[in-house]
Amino acid sequence: MTSSFPLLLSPLDLGFTTLKNRVIMGSMHTGLEDRAKNTARLAEFYAERARGGVGLIVTGGYAPNRTGWLLPFGAKLTNRFESRRHRTITKAVHDAGGKIALQILHAGRYSYQPFSVSASSIKAPINPFRPRRLTGRGVRRQIRNFVRCARLARSAGYDGVEIMGGEGYFINQFLAERTNKRTDEWGGAPQKRRRIAVEIVRRTRAAVGPDFVILFRLSMADLVEGGQSWDEIVSLAQEVEFAGATIINTDIGWHESRVPTIVTSVPRAAFVDITEKLAKHVSIPVVASNRINMPETAEEILTRGDAQLISMARPMLADPMWVRKAAAGAPDEINTCIACNQACLDHAFVNKHVSCLLNPRAGRETELTLLPTRRKKSLAVVGAGPAGLSAALNLAQRGHSVTLFEGRDEIGGQFGIAQKIPGKEEFAETVRYYRHQLALAGVDVRLGTRIAAADLVDGGYDEVVIATGVTPRVPDIPGIDHPKVLSYAEVVRDGRPVGTSVAVIGAGGIGVDVSEFLTHEHSPTLDLEEWKQEWGVTDPESAPGALTTPQPSPSPREVFLLQRKAGRIGSGLAKTTGWVHRAALKAKGVEELSGVNYERIDDAGLHISFGEKRERPRMLNVDTVVICAGQESVRDLVDDLTVAGVTTHVIGGADVAAELDAKRAIEQGTRLAASI
Ligand code: NAP
Ligand code: SF4
Repeated sequence: MTSSFPLLLSPLDLGFTTLKNRVIMGSMHTGLEDRAKNTARLAEFYAERARGGVGLIVTGGYAPNRTGWLLPFGAKLTNRFESRRHRTITKAVHDAGGKIALQILHAGRYSYQPFSVSASSIKAPINPFRPRRLTGRGVRRQIRNFVRCARLARSAGYDGVEIMGGEGYFINQFLAERTNKRTDEWGGAPQKRRRIAVEIVRRTRAAVGPDFVILFRLSMADLVEGGQSWDEIVSLAQEVEFAGATIINTDIGWHESRVPTIVTSVPRAAFVDITEKLAKHVSIPVVASNRINMPETAEEILTRGDAQLISMARPMLADPMWVRKAAAGAPDEINTCIACNQACLDHAFVNKHVSCLLNPRAGRETELTLLPTRRKKSLAVVGAGPAGLSAALNLAQRGHSVTLFEGRDEIGGQFGIAQKIPGKEEFAETVRYYRHQLALAGVDVRLGTRIAAADLVDGGYDEVVIATGVTPRVPDIPGIDHPKVLSYAEVVRDGRPVGTSVAVIGAGGIGVDVSEFLTHEHSPTLDLEEWKQEWGVTDPESAPGALTTPQPSPSPREVFLLQRKAGRIGSGLAKTTGWVHRAALKAKGVEELSGVNYERIDDAGLHISFGEKRERPRMLNVDTVVICAGQESVRDLVDDLTVAGVTTHVIGGADVAAELDAKRAIEQGTRLAASI
């Protein structure tokens, strides 16, 4: 059989070992690394990805010493005792036919503890702790600790190590003038600033011998003021190669950068042009990463010769069988990472174990199992939003007979709306995945069918799953029936016309999304050049840090975004994506109003006042008012089915509408499916 992705699936000979394909599972800190008791869980997490065919796995970051901890008592590899524990991981991966490298991550000034160290004593804007400036002796000790960590990784059975030199972590802090103000042998001129990186690679190579993979994670563009120049980056890559690195893995942006690099609104493969620019200067394989999530994109990158390997972290959470499905020529079967960050990075930032919104089994492989059923049942699922889809598919895959009823003519529920928001086009991939998988699993999908309780009773189903979702809340505001009032679903999903001046009532996730929708001209996909212009990203050769002045295109309409509660708009949004939304709205000139009372809506517009005393009355002269005031559960069928004695399960928004999100809906659907 000829492969649809010949380059992606071709082996890569590294001289002393061969990677079976060009796919690297990039490093992702899952939180399981931090506690010894989770080692077996972590081993199974990686083993499942190895069985899925990935060429090389890179672990989450392990600190080479305590000062390099990401968090107090976080993951580290500093002694033989810890190294022995890692054998469980390396054995599980090797038994599954995979290869695995351990990432050595020294957080430097990003270490969230008072004993952090760095090149200079300059506090990071995202960390309250000021690092201590290392002495020359201290620098040499850090280097020795990196080498010790690599040696311990080798003795634990790893196939290699990845030395984290990007993302604004310790090594990167020495590389950039922004954070390295030293005047000794480790600072000042560029070759002195990069000396630590080169020394770490050189001494690691000497310690581990020639037949051990050393990946160096290199920041191709820092995306911060005072970042490295292009000449410095190229010289670093060349010197790291000369020092003994096997592979250069690329990275972009520091954690403190104000340019998004991995959220869903970043166009796919947005930074591959920089990877290509760098790859020309070295002779070892270079890895492309960031916002690559489908085999077609990966194959194109390899075909153009922009890189020799592709790294994907989150896509391997969403679908551990990604490589196998690509190899089988079935990319439509892939559960595509939508770059939402909701269950992965957002969890990592609040110290919760990482999982995946689309695949709640990620990181819970030993706990959430979906084994074939021993007793096949006839089941009805009502509602084809995220909750109903996950329940129906998992039930059918376990061997049950499933009929899925959906009132609309398409599946997807709230995802059908989300995919129309500029920068959320990826959500369409989830709908495609379910459409495809439901057919493969033999689910009887009845679209355009508003099933009545009596018909469900007559259908003789063993059990019924109610996933009928939510309906937009209609707030009690005088004039709410005025023709200028529309619901968010009417605007986004149904394409109802909207005027040039709009008030959005409700500033939760959907109000923010709708404001983005209203402030963008609608094109099917975001153009990369337009995106770079909006965020001020330029060619790294023309400016250190690859930053220029952002030039967002003007909004086609005036938008007011309102909420009743006091305080900052969007404060409830997720940590890793909320700031991107807030910055985007600011750039588009959206006027944000908090602490608002909605007095009435009439021909003139929306009348508001502020605070408990209803002060400062104001009239917003808008021609459309869009309601994004949350949702209410739709559960009409539940009572009748219960009275009729049908075993009924209620999941997703139909269960609880408040703070509903797809993460909860999909997990609830999956867990229910595992239990029937
Ligand atoms: P939400 O986040 O609960 O926000 C509802 C908004 O409506 C709030 O701003 C609330 O603020 C306002 N509101 C509630 N009752 C009201 C009333 N009676 N009159 C006027 N305003 C009222 O709900 P959502 O925006 O519908 O989003 C639903 C879920 O989808 C969220 O939980 C979120 O997880 C998810 N989602 C997230 C994103 C994202 O992260 N970008 C995007 C879309 C959806 P006040 O009470 O202060 O006015
Ligand atoms: Fe991707 Fe979202 Fe899953 Fe994270 S939670 S792996 S970003 S789909």
